Amino acid sequence: MGSKLAAAAVAALALLAGCAEKPVEGTAQTVGDVGGLPVTHFESGPKAGAEDAQLDVENADNGEMDQLAINALADISEFWTAQLPANFDEEFKPIKRIVSYDAETSPVQICGESTKGLVNAFYCQLDDTVAWDRGTLLPGLNQQFGPMAVVTVLAHEMGHAVQFRLGEKSNINNTTQTIVKEQQADCYAGGFFRWVAEDNSEHFRISTGEGLNQILGALFQIRDDAGDVFTKPGAHGSAFDRVYAFQAGFTEGVKRCARMDGKEIQQRITELPFSQQDRNQGNIPVNGRHLDLLKDSLDKAFEDTGAQPPEFTTSGAECANGQATEPVTFCPDENTVTMDTGKLNELATPPARNQQGMDDSRGIGDFAAFAEIGSRYTMSVQQAVGASLDDANAGLRTACLTGAWAGFASEPHEGEQNQLRLSPGDLDEAIAEMLSPRSLIAANVRGEQNFVGFSMVEAFRIGYANGSKDCTQKYG
Ligand SMILES: [Zn+2]
Repeated sequence: MGSKLAAAAVAALALLAGCAEKPVEGTAQTVGDVGGLPVTHFESGPKAGAEDAQLDVENADNGEMDQLAINALADISEFWTAQLPANFDEEFKPIKRIVSYDAETSPVQICGESTKGLVNAFYCQLDDTVAWDRGTLLPGLNQQFGPMAVVTVLAHEMGHAVQFRLGEKSNINNTTQTIVKEQQADCYAGGFFRWVAEDNSEHFRISTGEGLNQILGALFQIRDDAGDVFTKPGAHGSAFDRVYAFQAGFTEGVKRCARMDGKEIQQRITELPFSQQDRNQGNIPVNGRHLDLLKDSLDKAFEDTGAQPPEFTTSGAECANGQATEPVTFCPDENTVTMDTGKLNELATPPARNQQGMDDSRGIGDFAAFAEIGSRYTMSVQQAVGASLDDANAGLRTACLTGAWAGFASEPHEGEQNQLRLSPGDLDEAIAEMLSPRSLIAANVRGEQNFVGFSMVEAFRIGYANGSKDCTQKYG
């Protein structure tokens, strides 16, 4: 976050939300509903006993990673063989060239260039090729996020193959910005994963609970750096934007993806550069001054509810009756938000980018800490309007209301000389925070989390885009 002089920051951040409509659709509402599918818990990955697919792959070593990729491509192709005629009145023509390489020991020529040192997977339109690095990329993804992360990357690349096959029907031409193509590819991948989640895939299965959590974690990992701009050539999007695109395809189907065009992206994309006021990559400490600004921001965001704002105390995250949800607790009897600023500052301090991941390190970034405090603040708002603080929907309602505050804090407000404002990377910190097992953003008053990453992230985004009224409607 940044605390900045409003006037100077307005120009740079007006795009973030401004007054433009932020279109968000989706059907997932209430607990137990993942884009219209039930929550499931089982181990995701290759199906036991499924026969390996056979595809002609150049330069393959036919090891475990190649076979995983081949099985994925076979299923993704099967998906598109049915979906292209059904949704776009087009036949799906198979990929001309499929290539496996090892960026270190076995590079190849694709698109007129060598893949030496290219730790990546990609689609090349020139010779209609899908290629992957079996040496570093696929084993790395497999190790960190499981085999379905490998499938995700290939589904994304096949999304590019599909969008070029569709051309105008996918709103694509020679002048289309990279970010539009990337958002579509993430969206098409989401469409494929719904088909997998509905158990249509021959080789893979995925649960809508932990299974999709892993995919969102992988999308988080391959996000652009905070401060990158969406207009830059090669921009793939922030984690917040990438997860949105994936969820849109999952929830609404592949026709939705084809509708993503430059105009829509311009309106809703959140990936923006740092402004001059954003020092230290936009991270500020949790201290007295910033807590005052935070409370002021939250008070204003929820002013129209008429709720009596809670007080903040910083002598430990505990209530008089002993209830505690580290590092910050809402105490219903006293209407206070109590916190441990030492622990919050640990959370507010991110590790270096090369050490980031969804591992045990608790440090994420300042917004993760501020959003946790914000989430406990919304407990006070919910209590004031008579909502339950621990019914089944309390966690998602809390995430949605915390998102509503984030949306409020992303916009300039008149007459405010000094206000807390979102800075690049903040929304991604919210995603990382919600996917972490100890998150409070989507937790009830006792700190019990929803655990379904897909639903939590969606609830936060609905609040961010649509404001608090939608939270009570959808998660009432
Ligand atoms: Zn791409």
